[in-house]
Amino acid sequence: MDTAADIERHIEAKQADYEATAAKLADVTARLIDATDGQRAKLLQERMMIVADRDALADELRELKRRYALAAIAPYEQAEADAAAFVTVCAERVAIWKAVSEGETDFLALAVVTSIDGSPCGACRQVMAEFALDMLVIIADLQQVHRIATVAELLPGAFTPDDLRNASS
Ligand SMILES: [Zn+2]
Repeated sequence: MDTAADIERHIEAKQADYEATAAKLADVTARLIDATDGQRAKLLQERMMIVADRDALADELRELKRRYALAAIAPYEQAEADAAAFVTVCAERVAIWKAVSEGETDFLALAVVTSIDGSPCGACRQVMAEFALDMLVIIADLQQVHRIATVAELLPGAFTPDDLRNASS
């Protein structure tokens, strides 16, 4: 498996390709505006191919970022999972509390990597919901990703801090 640093280099290279393709698209679009009827069909054809390239690059970037999140968190998750087995608090909650204790409360994604494709328990889903309903939860084993879902999908109708605020106002 590639390390997070390897994947980060792939992302940077792919991002540069993406930006170059986006620039080409802007250029061909600008040329379309001034094109004669004769030129237009060829430019539209060219534009379609650039759009297809750009969309393919966007898909590859998304996949790389997903792999990056997984690679970045995996070693940490593994260590926490080992520790959590003794204290009966799950690794997910340990990871969130650790991040919060270091001032991070804006969560984009959390990877749950276990040897048995384990899914977060109810208590963990509740803690996740209190911080970020739209955070992505990546559920994976050591070989592959099994599911990617938002916290809102994992815990429909969650009780959140908003409920408390609404109740007291
Ligand atoms: Zn749990």
